[in-house]
Amino acid sequence: YRHAPPSVREVWLSTVQFADRPYLVYGDETISYADAHAQVNAVAAWLADQGIVAGDRVAIAMRNYPEWMLIYWACTSCGIAVVGMNAWWTPDEMAYALNDAQPKALFTDQERLERLRQCEGVAADLKLVGVRLSGPAPGVTAWDDVVAAGGAMPDVVVDPDADACIFYTSGTTGHPKGAQLTHRGCVGNLFNLMYAAASSALAVERATGVAPPETPPIPAVLITTPLFHVTANNCGAYATTAAGGKLVLMYRWDPGEALKLIERERVTSMSGVPVMARELINHPDFASTDTSSLLALSGGGAQVPPDLVLKIEDKVATARPSTGYGMTETCGIITSIAGDFFVDRPDSAGPAMPNFEARCVDDDGNTVGVGEVGELWVRGACVIKGYINRPEATAESITDGWLHTGDVARMDEDGFIYIVDRKKDMILRGGENVYCAEVEAAVYRHPAVAECCAFGVADERLGEEVGVAVVLKPGETLTEAELREHCGVIMARHKVPRYIWFMDEALPRNASGKFLRRELRDRLSPATVPA
Ligand code: ATP
Ligand code: MG
Repeated sequence: YRHAPPSVREVWLSTVQFADRPYLVYGDETISYADAHAQVNAVAAWLADQGIVAGDRVAIAMRNYPEWMLIYWACTSCGIAVVGMNAWWTPDEMAYALNDAQPKALFTDQERLERLRQCEGVAADLKLVGVRLSGPAPGVTAWDDVVAAGGAMPDVVVDPDADACIFYTSGTTGHPKGAQLTHRGCVGNLFNLMYAAASSALAVERATGVAPPETPPIPAVLITTPLFHVTANNCGAYATTAAGGKLVLMYRWDPGEALKLIERERVTSMSGVPVMARELINHPDFASTDTSSLLALSGGGAQVPPDLVLKIEDKVATARPSTGYGMTETCGIITSIAGDFFVDRPDSAGPAMPNFEARCVDDDGNTVGVGEVGELWVRGACVIKGYINRPEATAESITDGWLHTGDVARMDEDGFIYIVDRKKDMILRGGENVYCAEVEAAVYRHPAVAECCAFGVADERLGEEVGVAVVLKPGETLTEAELREHCGVIMARHKVPRYIWFMDEALPRNASGKFLRRELRDRLSPATVPA
């Protein structure tokens, strides 16, 4: 890894070679690498003109517009840390992050600009650039003016240990924390992604005896999740950009729209959470869509239920199932698995990537035996420096370079890692651990189930009981008794859901598309179980 480019700047500058290849696709717009470089240079020159330099921070508050990536490359190439603001945040949450991160400038779209106007007294001296505004706004520089002014990329030596970006965690288990992702970490993740791609191609060759094509197709990746999270950014965008591929950006997730884009743009893979892959293959237009360009499917950021791995293998002619397990705190993937390896072990997230040491530990931090369950700790160049302004949270999460992932896992004798649950989500039923992922995997095996989410329900006698919220596929019917009987065949009695809620609408998700388990748990109480 020491021989890889030391900073994100070098990754971006190297892509100038891709010249007229399409880079960013959004709706009917296509921006080539050459266009992108011209715009990135103009933004970088503007930042220098404003006196914003290496070590400063610049925030982005907007949806998945092409400008998001252009601003990202401009800032990181100048050693300026990008603060990725969640586009779903309310004015109060935006104010919190701006106070937390103290950026010198903010690039914003219309909706976020309006929210910002509602934040009192926030960042009066913040320089604002408006992207795709509906008209001129007082005190706001227009993106088009920045780009029209042109300019050259400033000469900057970027410190590999400086922050490339501050990304807030998804907020699945609490208030989002601003993680400091270094240049070394982001480039290290790029190396891991390339290693993952090469080893999954090799796996296919080993299993089938057929060599992968001499010239693999240029990647075209559908970006379905927000660019302010690592799933879309560090995992979706990075390797694609470095390989001269195309990013097809979605404003919001919509499976029907995704199918149209896959066909039109000849998409080779999709970066998103697993539930999106499920919606895609369950969609009525799936069968009539040309998905032959897809080489990989599934996603990461959340547990991939094993039935989905097998369905992808079965239903999508060309695409192999694949996943990566990772976190904001590791700049991207920790493990990855694809193709035959995944089909053989659909409950595994794969081995740790070369930039990581990994071990499962008990409550005292001692490594547990092979196959035993413990909290996963990882160490390496991709681990974040810490959380901004939260020294206690940093100290709690990282000891001697070992990041406590908060995920419970086991590792087999071949080094394959199996994520069993989040520590915070584990259901403790009468002294027995029940893992949400295992309950969900069983429920998903029922053909009538479209989506489900398991969680603990307070119980006087046992401490917690197993609950599950279930959405059925359109036109399907299922009773609680039938679902319990189905689960009882698959797993031990104490794991079979005591409480089942059949929901009329899709389960609540956060901006990353992950199910809001805690919201469901708080909203559904035994009193609301249908009779
Ligand atoms: P917060 O930390 O704010 O509660 P979050 O943990 O969801 O939110 P992210 O950094 O986006 O924020 O997500 C990382 C977490 O997502 C991991 O710790 C793990 O629990 C889960 N995860 C990611 N990929 C996978 C995967 N392939 N399999 C299982 N779980 C995964
Ligand atoms: Mg987390």
